[in-house]
Amino acid sequence: MTPDAELLRLLACPESACRGPLEPVEAPQQGVRCTLCGREYSGSAGWLDLVSAEPPAGVGPMDQSV
Ligand SMILES: [Zn+2]
Repeated sequence: MTPDAELLRLLACPESACRGPLEPVEAPQQGVRCTLCGREYSGSAGWLDLVSAEPPAGVGPMDQSV
């Protein structure tokens, strides 16, 4: 599974203290990597975690500090 560049623009690092931009990781380990903290997320289970970790807009505790 190769992450789509358009999709990557909509996502960010699931680390609540980071939220850095993600970039694709080339083979052999396809997935994404955070450009800030350097964490790598695999293209299988990690990618699903990434999506499910995204809270619904407006209800995340991080949004309250704006
Ligand atoms: Zn990060």
